[in-house]
Amino acid sequence: MGELLTVRGVSSGYGQIRVLRSISLNVLDGEIVALLGANGAGKTTTLNTISGLVKLSSGELLFAGKSVARQPAEMLPGLGLVQVPEGRQIFGSMSVEDNLLLGGYHRYVGNSRSVRGDVREMFEMFPVLGQRRRQLAQSLSGGEQQMLALARGLMARPRLLLLDEPSLGLAPMVVSQVFAHIGSLPERGVTVLLVEQNAKQALEVANRGYVLENGSIVMSGKASQLLKDERVRSAYLGDDNPAGPGEA
Ligand code: ATP
Repeated sequence: MGELLTVRGVSSGYGQIRVLRSISLNVLDGEIVALLGANGAGKTTTLNTISGLVKLSSGELLFAGKSVARQPAEMLPGLGLVQVPEGRQIFGSMSVEDNLLLGGYHRYVGNSRSVRGDVREMFEMFPVLGQRRRQLAQSLSGGEQQMLALARGLMARPRLLLLDEPSLGLAPMVVSQVFAHIGSLPERGVTVLLVEQNAKQALEVANRGYVLENGSIVMSGKASQLLKDERVRSAYLGDDNPAGPGEA
C-alpha cells in the first residue's frame, strides 16, 4: 500500500495561538485511520490544516506524494482530498438532491451525466436519501443529515475523505449505521482519516489510530492494539477497569 497522506512535523494555529505542535502522521492507500483525542486536543485543527482551511506555519503536507501545503483549499477536492466537516454543514434550504449535485460541482462541467449517475448510486447506498430527494435538507433527521453529508463528500469521488465527528449527536442505532457505511468506504476505493470522540467505534472500524493531546501525537498503533491499551481505555473508552469486571 502506498502512502496517500503524509503529515510531517506540521505546526499550525490561529494567529498567535499555536495549536498543533509538530505533528507527524500518515495514511496509506485503502486504510481507515482514526484520530482520537479529548475536546480541544486539536483534532479539527488537524483536519482543517490538511484541507487547507487553517494555514500551516511549518512542516510538510504531502498528498499522493505531492506537496499540497501551499494549495488553496478549493483546489484540493479536484485532487481527491475532500473533507466532511463537523456539524454536517449541509445546505438546509436546498433539496437533498441539489446538495448531492453540489458535492460533485467540480466534476459537473462537461460531465453532468456521470455526476447524475453518481447521485443515483448514492440513492442506492443511502435509500432514505432517495426517498427524500426532493425534501429540503433541513427537514431531515440528524442521522439522515449525516448520511447526506457523507454522500455529498463521496460525490466529489475522493481518494481521501477527512471525516470530522460523523457520529456527533446521533442515537446509538444511527451511529452504528454511519460506522457501517464508513467501514465500507475502502471497498469503494476511498481512504479515510476519521476524527471521533466515539473512540471505541472508531477503533473498531479503523486499521490504525493516533492519539492527540494538547496538539501533539502521544500514541499511535494498530487499532486492535489501541483498543487494548490501558491508557487509551481509561482516557478515551471510559473504562476504569481495563481488565474487565470480576478480573484482577
Ligand atoms: P473538539 O473535540 O471539542 O471538537 P478538537 O480536538 O477538534 O476538539 P480543535 O477544535 O482543533 O479541537 O481546537 C483546538 C484548540 O484550538 C482549542 O483550544 C480551541 O479553543 C482552539 N481553536 C479552535 N478554533 C479556533 C479559532 N478559530 N480561533 C482560535 N482558537 C481556536
